[in-house]
Amino acid sequence: MTATSDQIKNWLDNYAVLIRRNAADLTELDRLIGDADHGANMQRGMERVQKLNAGDFADSAALLKRAGMTMVSAVGGSSGPLYGTFFIRMATAIAGNEDENHVVDAATFGKALRDGADGIAARGKAQLGDKTMLDVWYPALDAYDAAVAEGKELHECLVAASEAADAAAEATIPMIAHKGRASYLGNRSAGVKDPGAASSALLLQAAVETFGAGA
Ligand code: ADP
Ligand code: MG
Repeated sequence: MTATSDQIKNWLDNYAVLIRRNAADLTELDRLIGDADHGANMQRGMERVQKLNAGDFADSAALLKRAGMTMVSAVGGSSGPLYGTFFIRMATAIAGNEDENHVVDAATFGKALRDGADGIAARGKAQLGDKTMLDVWYPALDAYDAAVAEGKELHECLVAASEAADAAAEATIPMIAHKGRASYLGNRSAGVKDPGAASSALLLQAAVETFGAGA
């Protein structure tokens, strides 16, 4: 099971759909511990990404790079540069690792996701436990890598990652934020799921939908 550049565009498109469907909930989380714009930020960015045409890009690395640049330029909030960095780092990891059919395997895709998460950590100067999207990415990618090590195919690795991501997003609820706007609330940031953790879990849910069993 592999990912091609058309599938990567489908992944981004499916994410745009999930974001639109969940925008109100994401904004509500951000209203409780931020400034009530996370759903709108992500929707604005992903609608622009959805308008990109896969046929205009030589390979999935070029497409992901443009998607990342689009998120940076379209989104004013901190999530724009963070997701932008994520996709741009993914592009760098995938570049040169696609075969002549623009196919990447499960291990390469996982490495790209991890480089993306490391990019978020570097850009946001955040670490595990700060109550940010990273608290979803690292547990999810550990589950992904464990599935790769067991020889699982891309879809199964993504299912493992998505399940871990959903649990990890829930696990941000009791955390106290140390980065971003929620950190201004101190202890009062506890009791609400981190909005970026929720939107990151949706990106993996979109991947499960896209890179289906047998794809
Ligand atoms: P803003 O905080 O600028 O309004 P958003 O509301 O769109 O931007 O995004 C907020 C989300 O961004 C948070 O829920 C958190 O997951 C993530 N975030 C904010 N700051 C950081 C950071 N320094 N490092 C990692 N993630 C961060
Ligand atoms: Mg916000």
